[in-house]
Amino acid sequence: MRPLAGPRSADRAYPSLPHEASCPAEPCISSAYRKLDTGRQHRARSTGGMNESHIIPLRPRDRLFAVLAVVLAVLLLPVAFVRHPGRAREWACHWALGVRFPAENLTGLTYGARAAFTAARAEALWRHGQLIGLTSGYRDPLVQQRLFDEEVSRVGSPAAARMLVLPPAESKHVKGTALDVRPYEGARWLEEHGARYGLHRIYDNEWWHFEYRPDAGLQATEGISNALPNPQAASTC
Ligand SMILES: [Zn+2]
Repeated sequence: MRPLAGPRSADRAYPSLPHEASCPAEPCISSAYRKLDTGRQHRARSTGGMNESHIIPLRPRDRLFAVLAVVLAVLLLPVAFVRHPGRAREWACHWALGVRFPAENLTGLTYGARAAFTAARAEALWRHGQLIGLTSGYRDPLVQQRLFDEEVSRVGSPAAARMLVLPPAESKHVKGTALDVRPYEGARWLEEHGARYGLHRIYDNEWWHFEYRPDAGLQATEGISNALPNPQAASTC
């Protein structure tokens, strides 16, 4: 997660950051990758399913983290009921996940995106014991520009860079409606259940990138796949 710094050791098994390809099987891509991504798209969600599990195995400690987070959330529930009646489960989940993902930052997300993400991951935790953390949400335009520039330097051209990083004017991260999540299992949960909250996976080459697109809900429930292969495709459609 850490928007700008590199992943902590506990998270290195996951290509933590945005618009970068999930590179566990390759010598990881650019630094822009591992930092944040960018994103934009015009279409709805991917219904193609996530097929990267063969390169991102579930680690035993992930299950342990999940169990501990659920236990902590249960312990925090009474306090949450007192402080936030009516939303106690969400808050207890939020506090518990804050221990697991201390560097995550939801600041800058739009109200809708933040509310949707908070509600979705509360369901993931309480219903399925699945943790979902945010690696990158809102990004300052200058940060996004730097990431784009770094990617251009790495791959040699703006067109190639756009396969993974979009410029600020097109990035949904800059607009506060894109969320890069972790771990892989959490992203898989969100791909399966996120449409109910208006959260959709967008690009085939970014399992971690979701966007808050409440208007895409109908298409999602109808099983219509409008996924784009990569961010670059968003500018050509
Ligand atoms: Zn992203």
